[in-house]
Amino acid sequence: MKLAVIGKGLAAMGVIEALIKREIDAEILWIGPRIEDLGWANCSRNSTAVVALQGIKEDISPLGDDLVEAFHKTKEFIKVNNPSGVKRADRYHLSPDDTEKLKVRFGSLESHKILNLDFEGVYEEAFIFDPTVFLRWWYDRLEKHPHVKLVDDFIVELTASEARGLKEDYSFDFVFDARGAFVTDQLETIEKIQKVPGHYWVWEDVLDVGLNEFTVLTLFGHNLIYHHDTKRLVLGGSTEKDDISAPRLDQLHQQRAAFVSLFPNLDDVLCLKKAALFSGVRSKASKRRPTLFFQNENHLIINGFYKNGYTLCHLIGERAVERYKSTLFKTDSN
Ligand SMILES: Cc1cc2nc3c(=O)[nH]c(=O)nc-3n(C[C@H](O)[C@H](O)[C@H](O)COP(=O)(O)OP(=O)(O)OC[C@H]3O[C@@H](n4cnc5c(N)ncnc54)[C@H](O)[C@@H]3O)c2cc1C
Repeated sequence: MKLAVIGKGLAAMGVIEALIKREIDAEILWIGPRIEDLGWANCSRNSTAVVALQGIKEDISPLGDDLVEAFHKTKEFIKVNNPSGVKRADRYHLSPDDTEKLKVRFGSLESHKILNLDFEGVYEEAFIFDPTVFLRWWYDRLEKHPHVKLVDDFIVELTASEARGLKEDYSFDFVFDARGAFVTDQLETIEKIQKVPGHYWVWEDVLDVGLNEFTVLTLFGHNLIYHHDTKRLVLGGSTEKDDISAPRLDQLHQQRAAFVSLFPNLDDVLCLKKAALFSGVRSKASKRRPTLFFQNENHLIINGFYKNGYTLCHLIGERAVERYKSTLFKTDSN
């Protein structure tokens, strides 16, 4: 049996991890441009990359159920494998003018002090990823598996049994299609998938932030992420409708202003002249849920990770492999 996995982002890696874990007896042709290539076309590399429960509970919505289950799978993966580029962080949710929203989401508030500010808010455990380091770690680990054959190519045409690449053509028995937001440029998907660009700022080697731990400050839902080891600060990402080629940065400016009004010392640290702008393109499917669907027999699309790819990749990878296995027994997989 020959399987193809197209894409080198989190969705593809989640599938390959699950194929290996389930000891699926097949050759795995892993096709896509190298993870360092293609810039913003690889959303997993251009992500603020925080994983946390955010007050989400089970039995309220199908997306909430997915996210809770996925969070625990990702946490377990981190515990067992201790991946490079991932740190446990303290996350504080603040909403100084409207604590009611926080109470609704989290139930109750506690007193905290951070950067000399006393506030009523919520503490939660979070994990923060350095995308480049983590993806390289995961890529290297998967690539080493004897069943995985790595191919550095860009697919221009894909059917259920063949792919035409810029370098070569490939044939296989089943394809996991994890091309992310740009899949719709090449294929009219039977389920609707939208591209949603997002932007964020990064400051490297910041001094004197006043934080001694890996920290995420979340103000009205917006994140300021402090990577204590690399002294990197990340602000964002934007969520309003925007363009990738000419980003409107109003939302990031507003986020910066909100943090600085609470923590005036950050005004110098978050100097715009020193900020680097990053952009990624998320894929959004119906009801913001991750989606798995058969485009054709033997062609399974894994998409719609939207704002939660770092959380969802293990759970959805496992579900994708279950779908594949169900085709082997000729049961209804759609
Ligand atoms: C600003 C921003 C902030 C975010 N913050 C968070 C967060 O805090 N927490 C979180 O969990 N998620 C976050 N996300 C979302 C997360 O990054 C995405 O959900 C995730 O990266 C999507 O992964 P993917 O594998 O589906 O897509 P991608 O990472 O885009 O992977 C697609 C892959 O397919 C390849 N490809 C595309 N076309 C072809 C082709 N024709 N042939 C071969 N290969 C192809 C690409 O090169 C790439 O390797 C954020 C995203 C953005 C933009």
